[in-house]
Amino acid sequence: MKKEKEILNKNLSPEQYHVLVERGTERPFTGKLLYNKKKGSYRCARCGNVIFDSKTKFDSSCGWPSFYDAKKGSVKFKKDFRDLMIRTEVVCAKCGGHLGHLFKDAPQTPTGNRFCINSIALNFKPEKKKQAKRKPLKVPKPTKARSRAKQKEKTETAFFAAGCFWNVEEAFRTMRGVKETIVGYMGGDEKKYPNPSYWQVSTGKTGYEETTEIIFDPKKISYEKLLKKFWKIHDPTQINRQGPDVGKEYKSMIFYATPKQKLLATASKKEAQKKFKGKIATEIRKAEKFYRAEDYHQKYLMKRGLKTCRF
Ligand SMILES: [Zn+2]
Repeated sequence: MKKEKEILNKNLSPEQYHVLVERGTERPFTGKLLYNKKKGSYRCARCGNVIFDSKTKFDSSCGWPSFYDAKKGSVKFKKDFRDLMIRTEVVCAKCGGHLGHLFKDAPQTPTGNRFCINSIALNFKPEKKKQAKRKPLKVPKPTKARSRAKQKEKTETAFFAAGCFWNVEEAFRTMRGVKETIVGYMGGDEKKYPNPSYWQVSTGKTGYEETTEIIFDPKKISYEKLLKKFWKIHDPTQINRQGPDVGKEYKSMIFYATPKQKLLATASKKEAQKKFKGKIATEIRKAEKFYRAEDYHQKYLMKRGLKTCRF
């Protein structure tokens, strides 16, 4: 047994020997596996025993690779009284090598445990990529409709309400990367007003906002850039109005279409707040059904060669 261990130790670097055999600790934030997010298994660097699955790795920001669970039977625990602390030491069940410590301070994980492990005590083995299927899928030649659908896949949609939709549409229509803009209504009482008209919305009683749908190519323009424009083209600190346009239908709103948009919009609002004296009143809400407005509202300013509807 002793001889076996000697053989195992021969393969270790001095740093690995210090950790695995002398029960040392590597300096935090120095391990090469700390930020490793690849799929695979983590093995004892001394004997190859499989100890952790990449699925249980999480970011604890403690400076050492952290896992919330070890493979059954792969480790043993010992009381560690060194350094004036009582800690639970984690050792390899196969070779007894020191790996790190166990702390019960990770309530965000399924087990609540944090295996705080020296990167140098582990070797990572990436998961083998699944073999390609024998029969490659036959790809039919794209028809026109198909390629149109493909094109559509590449676009994203944003919805903004920032006062008179003629203005909002015109502001975004001309941006590079914006493919299409449509004005309409969103966020109202769909049961009571299943097909809202401009006249109904303009009463301010329907709950609908004059909203602009913006279809854009995320490769050419980011949602963040659209948000920046959004804060520029109106005064989001005004409540239920924009300049001369007064009414609930002129409320400043961001209707997010995806969870990512929600995050970006929230962050952007926080950032924009620094530039306004008053509190930003803009509401960030999940997008609902979008009702296209009457044709004569579409690209209203463009058709008239105007830049703004404020005279
Ligand atoms: Zn081992």
